[in-house]
Amino acid sequence: MSIISFRTLFHRVLLMGVLALAVAGCAVNPVTGEQELMLVSEAQEVQLGNELYPNALWSGEGGGGEFRDPALKSYLSGVVMNIHRVSHRPNLPVDFAVQNTSVPNAWAIPGHVVMTRGLLAALDNEAEFAYVMGHEMGHVSARHSARQMTYSMLGQFLLTGAAVAMAGSEYSDAALTLGSAGAGLILLKFSRNDELEADRLGVQYMTRLGYDPRAALSAHRNLEKVSDQYARSIGQSRQESSFFSELLSSHPRTSIRVEEIQSIINQTPRVAISGDGTQRQRFQTAVANIRRVNAVYVNHYDKAVRSLEKNNAAEALSFVRQAIAQDPSQAPFYALYGNIMVKQNNLPEAERYFSKALSIDGNYQPALRGMGVIRYAGNRYSESVEYLQRSLKLFPQDPASNYFMGMNYYRTRSYRYAIGYLKPFSEAVPKHPGIHAILGQCYEAVGDYQSAYSQYTMQLKVAPNNDAGGLARSRSRAIEMQFAPKK
Ligand SMILES: [Zn+2]
Repeated sequence: MSIISFRTLFHRVLLMGVLALAVAGCAVNPVTGEQELMLVSEAQEVQLGNELYPNALWSGEGGGGEFRDPALKSYLSGVVMNIHRVSHRPNLPVDFAVQNTSVPNAWAIPGHVVMTRGLLAALDNEAEFAYVMGHEMGHVSARHSARQMTYSMLGQFLLTGAAVAMAGSEYSDAALTLGSAGAGLILLKFSRNDELEADRLGVQYMTRLGYDPRAALSAHRNLEKVSDQYARSIGQSRQESSFFSELLSSHPRTSIRVEEIQSIINQTPRVAISGDGTQRQRFQTAVANIRRVNAVYVNHYDKAVRSLEKNNAAEALSFVRQAIAQDPSQAPFYALYGNIMVKQNNLPEAERYFSKALSIDGNYQPALRGMGVIRYAGNRYSESVEYLQRSLKLFPQDPASNYFMGMNYYRTRSYRYAIGYLKPFSEAVPKHPGIHAILGQCYEAVGDYQSAYSQYTMQLKVAPNNDAGGLARSRSRAIEMQFAPKK
């Protein structure tokens, strides 16, 4: 069992940093060849990447997990492996996945490189894909990612999306934690210099493989175009969208970048271009299916998610029905249907749809969580625990799975286990209106009155006027009485 709360992870990063400083101190940067201060060793980099990865793939409301299409994956992985071989750190392990979200994005952390469905569907050819992957892998090669991962931001950019959605208390809230886009995507913030260096590396790697470097320019234009389209599809301009304003604040504007890339291309020694330099034909054939599926997500599924977020379950249902009619092969469509049913308190129907999602993809985490929630609601605690364990294995930091896991143990009076899940949940969602009173009771039950008292105090800060607040007030008074100095 491994639940790593952010705080723990962050402390471990700090600790690793301190240890590494004591042992190593300086290391040679693989790209620049210069000595620089390195806070984590290569092995630690990969370990951190592996811990971060599943959470990044699922977190927030648009995490989406992996888009499953074995033929597509093997084709794109082949391209990624070619880039990896000509990169500065071919000794690192690397794994490629398509993330199942419409948000156009690509990211890499040590050991993993990812492109979203939304961006993949917008690229024109293999050379553009190779450039974007080369850019991302350039961040890893030049150890930008290692540097960023050691900063406190590691603890900030996950969970926040789901946290907002979990602001209620009972099981219906779990419905809100699935589906939409935006929050939770990895946004390692790189400096402008880092970005330019990654652009340069991307161009360098692609030309080593015989791609026409001008595809770097069209890749940037396509990224800008699809970002605009995406922002409009969620009813925002790119400037208004918090996701894109963050993205833009760390990424120089496309026009400036295109100029700079042009000069990078001019400085890059010419190498023989193979074929037409873009491999457009085989790329177009390979992505034809995901492009079609992506349109169904954008036109129906994403809209259903947004309707559900606005608590318009009827509208959400109509969109998700259209999505299923257009493409009955997508597990997320059925899981979203299930979540709408949970929202409407129709648990038998919810169960039917979660089962359907799992029959398509047995590792579709939100459906496993949904089954866990339904079992919990039906007081079938041990069955709920089984489903939630599977859910947490895929997505260790899922707030909702941690919450219901803890509540199963709370209801069966296994307080020590309950604390193990509810404590990380309360740290991820500190404004939850009832969690601190529940944790207070758990701590009292195991005889830790100091922690109990501090949880009750937090409850009184967060929500003093609900039932949980009332309980916190009377229990904290009782603890004060018990431990007051005797006269
Ligand atoms: Zn970048």
